[in-house]
Amino acid sequence: MIGFDVQAADGPARAGLLQLAHGEVETPAFMPVGTYGPVKTLAPEDLRSLGAQIVLGNAYHLWLRPGLPVVEAHGGLHRFTGWTGPILTDSGGFQVFSLGALRKVGEDGVRFRSPINGDSMLLTPEESIRIQHTLDSDIAMIFDECTPYWIEAGGQARPATEREAADSMQLSLRWARRCRDEFDRVRGRGALFGIVQGGMFETQREESAQGLLGIGFDGYAIGGLSVGEPKERMLSIMRHSAAQLPGKAPRYLMGVGTPEDLLEAIGAGIDLFDCVLPTRNARNGWLFTRHGDVKIRNARYRDDTSPLDPDCPCPTCNRFSRSYLHHLQRIDEMLGARLNTLHNLYYYLDLMRRARLAIRAGSFEQMARDEVAARTAILTG
Ligand SMILES: [Zn+2]
Repeated sequence: MIGFDVQAADGPARAGLLQLAHGEVETPAFMPVGTYGPVKTLAPEDLRSLGAQIVLGNAYHLWLRPGLPVVEAHGGLHRFTGWTGPILTDSGGFQVFSLGALRKVGEDGVRFRSPINGDSMLLTPEESIRIQHTLDSDIAMIFDECTPYWIEAGGQARPATEREAADSMQLSLRWARRCRDEFDRVRGRGALFGIVQGGMFETQREESAQGLLGIGFDGYAIGGLSVGEPKERMLSIMRHSAAQLPGKAPRYLMGVGTPEDLLEAIGAGIDLFDCVLPTRNARNGWLFTRHGDVKIRNARYRDDTSPLDPDCPCPTCNRFSRSYLHHLQRIDEMLGARLNTLHNLYYYLDLMRRARLAIRAGSFEQMARDEVAARTAILTG
Protein backbone atom coordinates (compact mmCIF):
# COMPACT_ATOMS: atom_id res chain seq x y z
CA MET A 1 0.00 0.00 0.00
CA ILE A 2 1.48 3.27 -1.09
CA GLY A 3 0.45 6.58 -2.57
CA PHE A 4 2.81 9.24 -3.85
CA ASP A 5 1.88 12.67 -5.17
CA VAL A 6 4.40 15.10 -6.55
CA GLN A 7 2.83 18.38 -5.45
CA ALA A 8 5.39 20.90 -6.65
CA ALA A 9 8.49 20.84 -8.85
CA ASP A 10 11.35 23.28 -9.24
CA GLY A 11 13.51 21.97 -12.07
CA PRO A 12 14.18 18.29 -11.31
CA ALA A 13 13.67 18.95 -7.56
CA ARG A 14 10.24 18.02 -6.30
CA ALA A 15 8.12 18.28 -3.14
CA GLY A 16 5.58 15.55 -2.56
CA LEU A 17 3.52 13.49 -0.16
CA LEU A 18 4.09 9.81 0.45
CA GLN A 19 1.18 7.84 1.93
CA LEU A 20 2.15 4.69 3.79
CA ALA A 21 0.44 2.13 6.02
CA HIS A 22 1.43 3.97 9.22
CA GLY A 23 1.09 7.57 8.06
CA GLU A 24 2.19 10.26 5.66
CA VAL A 25 5.66 11.56 4.84
CA GLU A 26 6.39 14.92 3.27
CA THR A 27 9.23 14.70 0.76
CA PRO A 28 12.09 15.37 0.36
CA ALA A 29 12.48 13.50 3.66
CA PHE A 30 15.40 12.40 5.79
CA MET A 31 15.04 9.10 7.68
CA PRO A 32 16.95 8.90 10.98
CA VAL A 33 18.69 5.54 11.25
CA GLY A 34 17.51 3.12 13.95
CA THR A 35 19.43 0.04 12.84
CA TYR A 36 18.52 -2.14 15.85
CA GLY A 37 15.20 -0.40 16.59
CA PRO A 38 16.06 2.79 18.45
CA VAL A 39 17.67 5.86 16.92
CA LYS A 40 20.58 5.89 19.38
CA THR A 41 19.94 7.99 22.54
CA LEU A 42 16.44 9.09 21.43
CA ALA A 43 12.88 8.09 22.36
CA PRO A 44 10.03 8.13 19.83
CA GLU A 45 8.66 11.41 21.25
CA ASP A 46 12.08 13.04 20.70
CA LEU A 47 11.96 12.02 17.03
CA ARG A 48 8.42 13.39 16.67
CA SER A 49 9.32 16.71 18.27
CA LEU A 50 12.32 17.07 15.94
CA GLY A 51 9.99 16.63 12.96
CA ALA A 52 10.93 13.08 11.88
CA GLN A 53 8.12 11.44 9.89
CA ILE A 54 9.75 8.11 9.02
CA VAL A 55 12.63 6.11 10.51
CA LEU A 56 14.83 3.33 9.18
CA GLY A 57 15.35 -0.11 10.70
CA ASN A 58 17.48 -3.00 9.52
CA ALA A 59 16.11 -6.46 8.73
CA TYR A 60 19.47 -8.22 9.07
CA HIS A 61 20.34 -6.82 12.50
CA LEU A 62 16.85 -7.32 13.92
CA TRP A 63 16.78 -10.87 12.56
CA LEU A 64 19.98 -11.64 14.54
CA ARG A 65 18.96 -9.63 17.63
CA PRO A 66 16.45 -9.78 19.26
CA GLY A 67 15.26 -12.31 16.64
CA LEU A 68 11.95 -12.41 14.83
CA PRO A 69 9.86 -14.25 17.48
CA VAL A 70 10.41 -11.35 19.92
CA VAL A 71 9.31 -8.69 17.41
CA GLU A 72 6.45 -10.91 16.24
CA ALA A 73 5.19 -11.24 19.82
CA HIS A 74 4.73 -7.44 19.78
CA GLY A 75 2.90 -7.56 16.44
CA GLY A 76 5.73 -5.85 14.60
CA LEU A 77 8.49 -3.28 14.89
CA HIS A 78 6.15 -0.35 15.58
CA ARG A 79 4.83 -1.74 18.86
CA PHE A 80 8.22 -3.19 19.77
CA THR A 81 9.98 0.18 19.48
CA GLY A 82 7.12 2.53 20.35
CA TRP A 83 7.55 4.45 17.08
CA THR A 84 4.05 4.44 15.59
CA GLY A 85 4.89 6.29 12.34
CA PRO A 86 6.19 4.86 9.07
CA ILE A 87 9.27 2.61 9.08
CA LEU A 88 11.46 1.67 6.13
CA THR A 89 13.58 -1.45 6.59
CA ASP A 90 16.78 -2.14 4.75
CA SER A 91 16.91 -5.73 3.52
CA GLY A 92 20.30 -6.63 4.95
CA GLY A 93 22.06 -6.86 1.59
CA PHE A 94 24.47 -4.08 2.46
CA GLN A 95 25.18 -5.44 5.98
CA VAL A 96 25.93 -8.94 4.70
CA PHE A 97 28.15 -7.40 2.03
CA SER A 98 29.99 -5.52 4.79
CA LEU A 99 30.97 -8.84 6.44
CA GLY A 100 33.68 -9.15 3.77
CA ALA A 101 35.56 -12.44 3.89
CA LEU A 102 33.06 -13.92 6.38
CA ARG A 103 30.37 -14.33 3.73
CA LYS A 104 29.93 -16.38 0.56
CA VAL A 105 27.60 -15.20 -2.19
CA GLY A 106 25.81 -17.85 -4.26
CA GLU A 107 22.84 -17.89 -6.64
CA ASP A 108 20.53 -18.88 -3.80
CA GLY A 109 21.61 -16.17 -1.37
CA VAL A 110 24.42 -15.28 1.02
CA ARG A 111 25.86 -17.75 3.50
CA PHE A 112 27.70 -16.27 6.47
CA ARG A 113 28.70 -16.88 10.07
CA SER A 114 26.58 -15.05 12.62
CA PRO A 115 28.72 -12.37 14.26
CA ILE A 116 26.67 -13.02 17.43
CA ASN A 117 27.23 -16.76 17.99
CA GLY A 118 29.16 -18.11 14.98
CA ASP A 119 26.18 -20.09 13.58
CA SER A 120 26.20 -20.70 9.84
CA MET A 121 23.30 -18.70 8.38
CA LEU A 122 21.77 -18.29 4.93
CA LEU A 123 20.02 -15.09 3.94
CA THR A 124 18.04 -15.41 0.72
CA PRO A 125 15.87 -12.86 -1.10
CA GLU A 126 12.76 -14.75 0.08
CA GLU A 127 13.92 -14.87 3.71
CA SER A 128 14.70 -11.15 3.67
CA ILE A 129 11.18 -10.35 2.43
CA ARG A 130 9.63 -12.64 5.07
CA ILE A 131 11.69 -10.91 7.79
CA GLN A 132 10.56 -7.47 6.63
CA HIS A 133 6.98 -8.72 6.46
CA THR A 134 7.18 -9.89 10.08
CA LEU A 135 8.65 -6.51 11.07
CA ASP A 136 5.57 -4.97 9.35
CA SER A 137 7.69 -2.43 7.45
CA ASP A 138 5.90 0.37 5.64
CA ILE A 139 8.60 0.16 2.97
CA ALA A 140 10.56 -3.06 2.43
CA MET A 141 13.70 -3.06 0.31
CA ILE A 142 14.71 -5.81 -2.09
CA PHE A 143 17.66 -8.00 -1.10
CA ASP A 144 20.51 -7.19 -3.45
CA GLU A 145 24.26 -7.43 -3.74
CA CYS A 146 26.04 -4.14 -3.26
CA THR A 147 28.90 -4.05 -5.79
CA PRO A 148 32.04 -2.98 -3.93
CA TYR A 149 34.06 -0.08 -5.31
CA TRP A 150 37.37 -1.62 -4.23
CA ILE A 151 38.14 -5.28 -4.92
CA GLU A 152 41.01 -7.06 -3.19
CA ALA A 153 43.10 -8.98 -5.72
CA GLY A 154 46.59 -10.35 -5.16
CA GLY A 155 47.09 -8.39 -1.94
CA GLN A 156 46.13 -5.14 -3.65
CA ALA A 157 42.89 -3.20 -3.93
CA ARG A 158 41.65 -2.02 -7.32
CA PRO A 159 38.28 -0.62 -8.45
CA ALA A 160 35.72 -3.21 -9.64
CA THR A 161 35.78 -3.79 -13.41
CA GLU A 162 32.70 -3.32 -15.58
CA ARG A 163 32.44 -7.11 -15.98
CA GLU A 164 32.37 -7.58 -12.19
CA ALA A 165 29.83 -4.78 -11.78
CA ALA A 166 27.66 -6.30 -14.54
CA ASP A 167 27.70 -9.84 -13.05
CA SER A 168 26.82 -8.49 -9.62
CA MET A 169 24.04 -6.28 -11.04
CA GLN A 170 22.55 -9.21 -12.99
CA LEU A 171 22.52 -11.35 -9.83
CA SER A 172 20.75 -8.49 -8.03
CA LEU A 173 18.16 -8.36 -10.83
CA ARG A 174 17.45 -12.10 -10.54
CA TRP A 175 17.08 -11.61 -6.75
CA ALA A 176 14.81 -8.59 -7.36
CA ARG A 177 12.41 -10.84 -9.29
CA ARG A 178 12.42 -13.38 -6.44
CA CYS A 179 11.80 -10.60 -3.88
CA ARG A 180 8.84 -9.32 -5.92
CA ASP A 181 7.33 -12.83 -6.13
CA GLU A 182 7.76 -13.52 -2.40
CA PHE A 183 6.40 -10.07 -1.50
CA ASP A 184 3.29 -10.71 -3.61
CA ARG A 185 2.90 -14.15 -2.02
CA VAL A 186 3.01 -12.93 1.63
CA ARG A 187 0.79 -9.92 0.79
CA GLY A 188 1.84 -7.44 3.46
CA ARG A 189 0.40 -3.95 3.70
CA GLY A 190 3.75 -2.30 3.03
CA ALA A 191 5.38 -1.14 -0.19
CA LEU A 192 8.36 -2.72 -1.94
CA PHE A 193 11.24 -0.71 -3.42
CA GLY A 194 13.75 -1.89 -6.03
CA ILE A 195 17.42 -0.85 -5.83
CA VAL A 196 19.48 0.29 -8.82
CA GLN A 197 23.01 -1.17 -8.78
CA GLY A 198 25.68 -1.35 -11.50
CA GLY A 199 28.76 0.07 -9.78
CA MET A 200 30.33 3.15 -11.34
CA PHE A 201 29.22 2.28 -14.90
CA GLU A 202 26.42 4.22 -16.54
CA THR A 203 25.44 1.48 -19.00
CA GLN A 204 25.14 -1.04 -16.13
CA ARG A 205 23.09 1.44 -14.09
CA GLU A 206 20.77 1.92 -17.10
CA GLU A 207 20.34 -1.82 -17.53
CA SER A 208 19.64 -2.23 -13.82
CA ALA A 209 16.98 0.52 -13.88
CA GLN A 210 15.34 -0.96 -16.99
CA GLY A 211 15.29 -4.45 -15.45
CA LEU A 212 13.70 -3.16 -12.23
CA LEU A 213 11.10 -1.12 -14.14
CA GLY A 214 10.24 -4.28 -16.08
CA ILE A 215 9.52 -6.13 -12.82
CA GLY A 216 7.69 -3.13 -11.34
CA PHE A 217 8.15 -1.69 -7.83
CA ASP A 218 6.38 0.94 -5.69
CA GLY A 219 9.53 3.05 -5.55
CA TYR A 220 13.16 2.94 -6.64
CA ALA A 221 16.35 3.37 -4.67
CA ILE A 222 19.87 4.13 -5.82
CA GLY A 223 22.27 1.80 -4.01
CA GLY A 224 25.97 1.06 -4.13
CA LEU A 225 27.12 4.65 -3.66
CA SER A 226 29.36 6.14 -0.95
CA VAL A 227 31.30 2.85 -0.88
CA GLY A 228 34.77 4.38 -1.32
CA GLU A 229 34.50 6.12 -4.69
CA PRO A 230 35.58 9.77 -5.19
CA LYS A 231 32.85 12.28 -4.30
CA GLU A 232 32.48 13.63 -7.85
CA ARG A 233 31.97 10.10 -9.20
CA MET A 234 29.30 9.45 -6.57
CA LEU A 235 27.44 12.63 -7.53
CA SER A 236 27.61 11.99 -11.29
CA ILE A 237 26.37 8.37 -10.95
CA MET A 238 23.64 9.58 -8.57
CA ARG A 239 22.44 12.20 -11.10
CA HIS A 240 22.59 9.71 -13.96
CA SER A 241 20.71 7.00 -12.02
CA ALA A 242 18.03 9.46 -10.82
CA ALA A 243 17.35 10.47 -14.43
CA GLN A 244 16.69 6.79 -15.35
CA LEU A 245 13.83 6.48 -12.86
CA PRO A 246 10.15 7.25 -13.48
CA GLY A 247 8.89 10.62 -12.23
CA LYS A 248 5.73 9.18 -10.68
CA ALA A 249 7.50 6.89 -8.21
CA PRO A 250 9.45 7.94 -5.11
CA ARG A 251 13.25 7.93 -5.47
CA TYR A 252 15.50 7.04 -2.55
CA LEU A 253 19.26 7.63 -2.32
CA MET A 254 20.63 5.05 0.14
CA GLY A 255 23.22 5.86 2.79
CA VAL A 256 24.26 9.34 1.56
CA GLY A 257 25.44 11.75 3.06
CA THR A 258 26.56 15.27 4.04
CA PRO A 259 24.16 18.24 3.98
CA GLU A 260 25.83 19.30 0.70
CA ASP A 261 25.27 15.81 -0.81
CA LEU A 262 21.60 15.92 0.18
CA LEU A 263 21.09 19.31 -1.47
CA GLU A 264 22.78 18.06 -4.66
CA ALA A 265 20.56 14.98 -4.66
CA ILE A 266 17.34 16.93 -4.02
CA GLY A 267 18.37 19.07 -7.00
CA ALA A 268 18.56 15.85 -9.06
CA GLY A 269 15.04 14.77 -8.04
CA ILE A 270 15.67 12.49 -5.03
CA ASP A 271 12.84 12.25 -2.46
CA LEU A 272 14.15 10.07 0.39
CA PHE A 273 17.42 9.85 2.30
CA ASP A 274 18.99 7.98 5.16
CA CYS A 275 22.48 8.27 6.60
CA VAL A 276 24.23 7.55 9.89
CA LEU A 277 26.25 10.78 9.58
CA PRO A 278 24.14 13.12 11.78
CA THR A 279 23.67 10.52 14.55
CA ARG A 280 27.12 8.85 14.47
CA ASN A 281 28.97 12.15 14.18
CA ALA A 282 26.88 13.58 17.03
CA ARG A 283 28.20 10.89 19.36
CA ASN A 284 31.75 11.79 18.30
CA GLY A 285 31.15 15.49 18.98
CA TRP A 286 30.84 16.56 15.32
CA LEU A 287 27.96 19.01 14.97
CA PHE A 288 26.39 20.24 11.75
CA THR A 289 25.13 23.83 11.68
CA ARG A 290 23.98 26.40 9.16
CA HIS A 291 27.21 28.27 9.88
CA GLY A 292 29.56 25.35 9.32
CA ASP A 293 30.55 22.26 11.28
CA VAL A 294 31.66 22.37 14.90
CA LYS A 295 33.95 19.78 16.50
CA ILE A 296 32.96 20.38 20.07
CA ARG A 297 35.96 18.56 21.65
CA ASN A 298 38.21 21.34 20.40
CA ALA A 299 39.84 23.22 23.32
CA ARG A 300 38.67 26.55 21.90
CA TYR A 301 35.13 25.78 23.15
CA ARG A 302 36.15 25.23 26.78
CA ASP A 303 35.22 28.77 27.82
CA ASP A 304 32.70 29.52 25.05
CA THR A 305 29.44 30.45 26.79
CA SER A 306 27.52 31.06 23.55
CA PRO A 307 24.96 28.54 22.24
CA LEU A 308 26.13 25.97 19.69
CA ASP A 309 24.16 27.82 16.98
CA PRO A 310 22.40 31.03 18.11
CA ASP A 311 19.96 30.71 15.17
CA CYS A 312 18.94 27.10 15.94
CA PRO A 313 15.70 26.61 17.93
CA CYS A 314 16.49 22.98 18.88
CA PRO A 315 16.32 21.88 22.54
CA THR A 316 20.14 21.75 22.74
CA CYS A 317 20.88 25.22 21.35
CA ASN A 318 18.01 26.63 23.42
CA ARG A 319 19.47 25.75 26.80
CA PHE A 320 23.13 24.75 26.66
CA SER A 321 26.41 26.50 25.91
CA ARG A 322 29.25 25.28 23.72
CA SER A 323 31.33 25.15 26.86
CA TYR A 324 28.91 22.72 28.55
CA LEU A 325 28.66 20.52 25.43
CA HIS A 326 32.49 20.52 25.27
CA HIS A 327 32.61 19.47 28.93
CA LEU A 328 30.07 16.64 28.38
CA GLN A 329 32.10 15.38 25.41
CA ARG A 330 35.37 15.46 27.37
CA ILE A 331 33.92 13.46 30.28
CA ASP A 332 32.23 10.98 27.90
CA GLU A 333 28.81 11.75 29.34
CA MET A 334 25.79 10.05 27.72
CA LEU A 335 23.85 13.29 27.94
CA GLY A 336 26.38 14.84 25.56
CA ALA A 337 25.68 12.16 22.92
CA ARG A 338 21.96 12.76 23.38
CA LEU A 339 22.09 16.56 23.17
CA ASN A 340 24.39 16.40 20.14
CA THR A 341 22.07 13.90 18.44
CA LEU A 342 19.03 16.11 19.10
CA HIS A 343 20.80 19.05 17.45
CA ASN A 344 22.22 17.20 14.44
CA LEU A 345 18.92 15.52 13.61
CA TYR A 346 17.10 18.82 14.04
CA TYR A 347 19.51 20.38 11.54
CA TYR A 348 19.05 17.56 8.97
CA LEU A 349 15.24 17.48 9.36
CA ASP A 350 15.02 21.27 9.23
CA LEU A 351 17.18 21.28 6.09
CA MET A 352 14.56 19.02 4.45
CA ARG A 353 11.75 21.29 5.72
CA ARG A 354 13.44 24.35 4.22
CA ALA A 355 14.12 22.49 0.96
CA ARG A 356 10.42 21.54 0.69
CA LEU A 357 9.40 25.18 1.22
CA ALA A 358 11.96 26.45 -1.29
CA ILE A 359 10.82 23.94 -3.94
CA ARG A 360 7.23 25.11 -3.47
CA ALA A 361 8.39 28.73 -3.74
CA GLY A 362 10.46 28.00 -6.86
CA SER A 363 13.66 29.09 -5.12
CA PHE A 364 15.37 25.77 -4.37
CA GLU A 365 18.58 26.47 -6.29
CA GLN A 366 19.06 29.77 -4.45
CA MET A 367 18.31 28.13 -1.10
CA ALA A 368 20.85 25.35 -1.75
CA ARG A 369 23.51 27.84 -2.89
CA ASP A 370 22.96 30.04 0.19
CA GLU A 371 23.13 27.07 2.55
CA VAL A 372 26.39 25.76 1.10
CA ALA A 373 27.92 29.27 1.05
CA ALA A 374 26.94 29.90 4.69
CA ARG A 375 28.31 26.53 5.78
CA THR A 376 31.67 27.08 4.11
CA ALA A 377 32.06 30.79 4.95
CA ILE A 378 33.09 30.18 8.55
CA LEU A 379 34.76 26.86 9.19
CA THR A 380 34.51 26.91 12.95
CA GLY A 381 36.30 23.52 13.05
ZN1 LIG B 1 20.52 23.20 17.66
